[in-house]
Amino acid sequence: DEDLALVDRDDDEAGEDAEEVAVPVVAVVGRPNVGKSTLVNRIIGRREAVVEDVPGVTRDRVAYDAEWSGRRFTLVDTGGWAIDAKGIHLRVAEQAEIAVELADAVLFVVDAVVGATDDDEAVVKLLRRAGKPVVLVANKVDDQRTEADAAALWNIGLGQPWPVSALHGRGSGDVLDAILDVLPEKSAVAAYQRGGPRRVALLGRPNVGKSSMLNKLAGSDRVVVDDVAGTTRDPVDELIELGGTTWRFVDTAGIRRRVHQTRGADFYASLRTQTALEKAEVAVVLIDASVPITEQDIRVVQQVVDSGRALVIAYNKWDLTDEERRHFLEREIERELVQIPWAPRVNVSASTGRHMDRLVPALDTALDSWDTRIPTGRLNAFLGEVVAGHPHPVRGGKQPRILFATQASTRPPRFVLFASGFIEAGYRRFVERRLREEFGFEGTPIEVSVRVRE
Ligand code: GDP
Ligand code: GDP
Repeated sequence: DEDLALVDRDDDEAGEDAEEVAVPVVAVVGRPNVGKSTLVNRIIGRREAVVEDVPGVTRDRVAYDAEWSGRRFTLVDTGGWAIDAKGIHLRVAEQAEIAVELADAVLFVVDAVVGATDDDEAVVKLLRRAGKPVVLVANKVDDQRTEADAAALWNIGLGQPWPVSALHGRGSGDVLDAILDVLPEKSAVAAYQRGGPRRVALLGRPNVGKSSMLNKLAGSDRVVVDDVAGTTRDPVDELIELGGTTWRFVDTAGIRRRVHQTRGADFYASLRTQTALEKAEVAVVLIDASVPITEQDIRVVQQVVDSGRALVIAYNKWDLTDEERRHFLEREIERELVQIPWAPRVNVSASTGRHMDRLVPALDTALDSWDTRIPTGRLNAFLGEVVAGHPHPVRGGKQPRILFATQASTRPPRFVLFASGFIEAGYRRFVERRLREEFGFEGTPIEVSVRVRE
C-alpha cells in the first residue's frame, strides 16, 4: 500500500523510549493465501498503526502495535514475503526463517481446509530447529463442520491446532490467549529494534577476511558476547567498543564458526547475509583487494543496497597488493561498482591493522547519512531550482511537472515526488543524482518514488 510510505515512522519523539524497545515480537508465518493478513487485520482491529516498515530483502515486512488482555506486543506480518527485492520467489521456509529469527514467538498459520502441504512441512522443520514458542493456527475453520480439519493438524507435531476463522473472527481470542501464554515478558530480539548500540554486519564472500577483521576489532578482552538473541541457534552478537562507542556486531557466530560453509551451498551464504542485514543498520562489505573483484562480491554489495541499509566498502588484504594490482583494482571498481560511488571506502589490512582506525569514521558517516532528514521547505526550494533549470521533457504535447516533494522516511532516506503526470525513469534518476550532489548521502542508498496527482 503506497500510502504507508507517507506514514512518518521516524518521528524522533515517538520511537526512542526504552520501554517501547523491549516490547516482545510475534511473527505471523505461513505460506501465501492461508490467511495471515486477514488474521493480522483481525488482531489489530484494522487499525493501520505501522510501527516499522523494513525495506529491502523483506520489502513488505510490516510491524504493528498490538494489544490483548492489557499486554502490548509487536505483530509482524510477513504476508508480502512471497517475492524478494529482485522479484525472485523465495521459498516459504526461507522467508519464515528470517521472520522467526527476529521474533520471540510465532503464530504459524495453516489452511485447515487444504491441510498441511510440503511447504507447511518445511516450515514445521525450521520451527522445530529454531526452538521458539509456536502457536499453531488452523485457519479457515468457519463453522463446526470444518472443526475436524483442524484436528487433523495434530499430525504435524506442533501441539494443539487452534481452530480459527480469521475472516469471521471465530476462535481468534483463544489464539491470542495462547500466544500470550508463551510470549516472554522481556523480548530477546528487542536489540534489533530501535535504540541500543548501533548494529553492524560484516559481510563478504568466504576468505575475504571477515573473521580476521572481527578479531582485530575485538582485540582480546573487550568483547562481550551477547547470546540472548542466539539462545536458539547460531547467531550470536558481539558488543565491541570502538572509538569510545559500543557497537553491536550481529551474527558473529556465523563468521567465527563458519557454520554455513560446512553445508556448502552458496545459498546459505546468501541467506546468512540476508539475516544479518535484517538485524543490521550498516554493513561493512569486505572485498579482497589482492585478487580480481568477483561476481559474488558484487552480489553482496547489491544485497546491501537492496536492503536499504547503510554501506561501507572495505578493501582488505591491502598488504598483499602491489602497484600493478592496485592499478587494476581501480579499473575493476570503475567497471563493477560505478553505480555506487557513494559508498565510503577504506583500504585496510585486517592482518597488519593498516587503516583499521578509518573504519569507525566511515561507519559514522554512513549512519549519519542514513538518518538524514531534509526539511520539507529546503527540499522543495532545492527541487524548484532543479526543475526550473531542467524541466521534464515534453511528451505527447504535455509536460509533467513536479508539484511538491516530501521525505517520507529516513533509514534510508526515501523521497516521494508528487507530479502532474508520468515522470520518466531517466528524469527520476536525474533528480536522484541532483539530490546526492546537493545533500551528499555518503554511505546510504536513497529512494525516489513518484506519485501522479491528477
Ligand atoms: P495471506 O496470503 O496468508 O496473507 O492470506 P490472506 O489473508 O490474504 O487470505 C487469503 C484468502 O483467504 C483471502 O481471500 C481471504 O479472504 C481468505 N481467508 C482468510 N482467512 C479466512 C477464513 O478464516 N475463512 C475463509 N473462508 N477464508 C479466509
Ligand atoms: P573469512 O572467511 O571472510 O572470515 O576470512 P578469514 O578472516 O578467515 O581470512 C581468510 C584468510 O585470509 C586467512 O588465512 C587470513 O589470515 C587471511 N587474511 C585475512 N585478512 C588478511 C589481510 O588483511 N592480509 C593478509 N595478508 N591476509 C589476510
